[in-house]
Amino acid sequence: MTLAKEKTVVDIVRADFPILKEKVNGKPLVYLDNAATSQKPLQVINSLQDYYQEYNSNVHRGAHCLSGKATDAYEGARDRVAKFVNASSRQEIVYTRNATEAINLVAYSWAMNNLQPGDEIIFSVMEHHSNIVPWHFVAQKTGAVLKHVELTSEETFDLDQFKQLLSDKTKLVSVVHVSNTLGCINPVKEICHLAHQQGAKVLIDACQSVPHMPVDVQDMDCDWLVASGHKMCAPSGIGFLYGKQEILQEMPPFLGGGEMIADVYLDHSTYGELPHKFEAGTPAIGEAIALGAAVDYLTTIGMDKIHAYEAELTAYLFQELGKIPQIRIYGPKPDANGEGRAALAAFTAGQIHANDLSTFLDEYGVAIRSGHHCTQPLHRHLDIPATARASLSFYNTREEIDVFVKALKETIEFFSGFLG
Ligand SMILES: *Cc1c(COP(=O)(O)O)cnc(C)c1O
Repeated sequence: MTLAKEKTVVDIVRADFPILKEKVNGKPLVYLDNAATSQKPLQVINSLQDYYQEYNSNVHRGAHCLSGKATDAYEGARDRVAKFVNASSRQEIVYTRNATEAINLVAYSWAMNNLQPGDEIIFSVMEHHSNIVPWHFVAQKTGAVLKHVELTSEETFDLDQFKQLLSDKTKLVSVVHVSNTLGCINPVKEICHLAHQQGAKVLIDACQSVPHMPVDVQDMDCDWLVASGHKMCAPSGIGFLYGKQEILQEMPPFLGGGEMIADVYLDHSTYGELPHKFEAGTPAIGEAIALGAAVDYLTTIGMDKIHAYEAELTAYLFQELGKIPQIRIYGPKPDANGEGRAALAAFTAGQIHANDLSTFLDEYGVAIRSGHHCTQPLHRHLDIPATARASLSFYNTREEIDVFVKALKETIEFFSGFLG
């Protein structure tokens, strides 16, 4: 009997992702841009195809069989998302196009209607542009004042400074759970507790946490939480807003039209129940159903297991990058088990521009991100024009990290010839 190499869990998982078998520039794809968007397993791709092939129909409208089936699948996916983040009711989950739209929903529906001149909004210097620009709109329209939290010497959220900024003027705190650039995991539960003591509401941007660790909105006690499907193995064009029921109940609709109404007259209308009040027009039906399939997929593997495996990869990534003297990684260091930060590394390599790094690595089949990662204020704060970023997922392997690090070393060596 020949000894077959034993299949590991990650081998089995990788077989679900057809794209991982693709070649790029003649080399096996090494996809390390998961913080920009994740890849999709067959289970998700198939659920989208099944919808279009077998029961494509509009939701909440037809009395016919296909519409009933589509409605059940669409609403069933909402139940899965609610359970996934431990919402207390399915009515607390509103489908949106993405996290950006979810933040804008809160900005237009809640903040525009509740903030007065002099009221304060606190976010942090590490926020994604999607969690900054909507607050610019709100400040311009309402006269609210924007305050921001900076970084500790470890390049993490400065909780002490946050405490100093908080006051009874604070009406809203909007912060990222896990930074897409620094990789730090912010103390969101404590942030919610402190903000609530001042009577402020809290929005958590969970784009980079929901795909990688268990997230529990009731334990966190946030008022709203947003995430994008495409970063959690689901298609693009679907995301969600979680909001506490009593708060969503008080908020006026964001967009008007079909699907969100109870009754319409020529001069006024009454609105539907939650969550439909916030879902105007025909939604992204297949995408929502596929989001449900993605949640099933992640849940079957287990968010605890995903987090633990990614921590192992993080420890290895930092160990290997640590051997390259030119590399400066931003954000906190992981502990010996790879815990304490996200499975990503945004870095610079001496004088080499990040775009040159990613272009050269592409020749090796390695996909990493370069640029400002939609965190321009953070890059300005760190006084760097750009970083390169490798971001991992549960389907990545140590062997892929080896390919990446080897390609990176060769690229740095090549440039050292003329950059010194
Ligand atoms: C990706 C991302 C967003 C924006 O997500 P969209 O899908 O583009 O709406 C917001 N915040 C963080 C931390 C992100 O990583």
